[in-house]
Amino acid sequence: MKIIQTLSTLREFIDPLKHSEQVIALVPTMGALHNGHISLISAALQQAEIVVCSVFVNPTQFTDPKDLVNYPRPIAHDIALLEDAGCHAVFMPSVKEIYPTWPTPEQWHIDLGDAEFLLEGAFRKGHYQGVTQVVKKLFDAVQPDSAFFGQKDYQQVLMIKNMVKKLQLDVKIVSCPIIRESDGLAMSSRNVHLSPNDREHALVLFKALDFVRENQENMAIDSLVKNASLIIENAPGVLLDYFSIADRETLSPAAEGNRNVIALVAAKVGNTRLIDNILLELQSLS
Ligand code: AMP
Repeated sequence: MKIIQTLSTLREFIDPLKHSEQVIALVPTMGALHNGHISLISAALQQAEIVVCSVFVNPTQFTDPKDLVNYPRPIAHDIALLEDAGCHAVFMPSVKEIYPTWPTPEQWHIDLGDAEFLLEGAFRKGHYQGVTQVVKKLFDAVQPDSAFFGQKDYQQVLMIKNMVKKLQLDVKIVSCPIIRESDGLAMSSRNVHLSPNDREHALVLFKALDFVRENQENMAIDSLVKNASLIIENAPGVLLDYFSIADRETLSPAAEGNRNVIALVAAKVGNTRLIDNILLELQSLS
């Protein structure tokens, strides 16, 4: 596996591949890799001849400076996992390589639609501008035919799809299923911050989503949301940010009868903020 740290070395790697029309897939990550990330590499390997994984802790998408400082960075472990997975190249640039004027922010903005400001966007102001900014730079550098993202960050995939539409980019966006621990907790790089108690408490996010999945055919949407929120609010050590059953495209609260919906949750478990979601196939109750 090629380990690449600069844009010029990346170009030397990519140019001949483009020239010989090889199909390239990109898997953008912030590292601290786990089986969720590796599932994206495996999916990408099935559809492309060359898979490039980027490992870059993108400062412009962090709204909490402590979160940025504390974000895990186990580089050697990440390289070993990617090598095992059969990834062809890893791009691990410095912050200055991606943002030459850093720490002065770049002043550009992409219209991502109203959903940018809902749910995660309401709790993390500017987050999706930061996400789409770095993904656009990675698309320009890698020139992939497709890019693979996890449904774990559902709103993120939606924002990236909106960016691709808005800027008419020629990149296919593939969303892959959430990989969970055996007890249901969604895998996340932030799970390493959970104490043994937090780890137990964190399961309530999946329990609340599972409650909604099980009861989706016999409860109205507002009752599902109320009950699922209560499950989390009554759990020890967990502070609910939101529980929403929303339209999959607009992320606005779903109206009764809407079947194209998703349940999304965010909560702080101890000092660690976690998100999770589940796609629903709601039947009309009437
Ligand atoms: P991150 O490193 O957290 O920015 O995540 C990089 C990519 O991996 C994103 O597209 C995430 O949605 C995806 N991802 C993270 N956790 C999981 C998971 N548990 N299952 C599937 N994909 C995931």
